Amino acid sequence: MQPLVFMGGTFDPVHNGHLRTALELKQWLGVDQVCLIPSGAPVHRDAPGCTPRQRLDMVRLAVQDESALGVDPREVESTEPSYSLLTLQALRRERGESCPIIMTMGMDAYRTLPSWHEWESFLEYAHILVLARPGYEGSGTDERLLRFTREHQTSAVGELLGQPAGKVHIQELTPLGISATQIRRLIAQGQSPRYLLPEPVWHYIRQHKLYGYH
Ligand code: ATP
Ligand code: MG
Repeated sequence: MQPLVFMGGTFDPVHNGHLRTALELKQWLGVDQVCLIPSGAPVHRDAPGCTPRQRLDMVRLAVQDESALGVDPREVESTEPSYSLLTLQALRRERGESCPIIMTMGMDAYRTLPSWHEWESFLEYAHILVLARPGYEGSGTDERLLRFTREHQTSAVGELLGQPAGKVHIQELTPLGISATQIRRLIAQGQSPRYLLPEPVWHYIRQHKLYGYH
């Protein structure tokens, strides 16, 4: 059975750091597709600069010509708050007990994991694949997270594909120091974010005057 590999995020907006990382992940793991899951109502951060629908539209535009990448609208379309735990439980129910599920996130997100709802039970449903991100070297200083990492970490990626859940793996792909924060700032300052994100997404931002575009 094909493992399910997904990347959650606000994607406010989606950018080439997300897309290049997801594509490399797909190739490196040898799976058919990596799925992006934009969050609905965010619980971990300030309100985003546009609506959940618009963030979903932009992810759709970003992956429309790339069969290696997919989008799952469930969190945006759900009326419940976006808790990763609920998504993990739903994915596990849908995929059955033996399908490997790999939840990927950047090191910056991983460092905040101890503030996520019921984070310690995530490994019952999935593996966690952590991607190195420029500016976030190492797993941080939170003792609970360091212990969690020590207890579950594997250096053998085969273990992620050979069992349904339960492992943490940290991987470095091509480092790309692009963030949505930087893109929003450039746009608000009247500067171009071109080449940091797909052209159709930049077009959508201008069309809808998002992030203070003027
Ligand atoms: P913001 O600056 O608004 O937080 P972001 O660029 O971090 O935006 P998110 O939507 O928060 O984008 O990120 C979704 C997921 O993708 C997170 O797990 C994040 O760590 C990861 N990610 C984002 N950008 C990169 C990148 N350049 N390299 C590796 N991982 C990334
Ligand atoms: Mg982020």
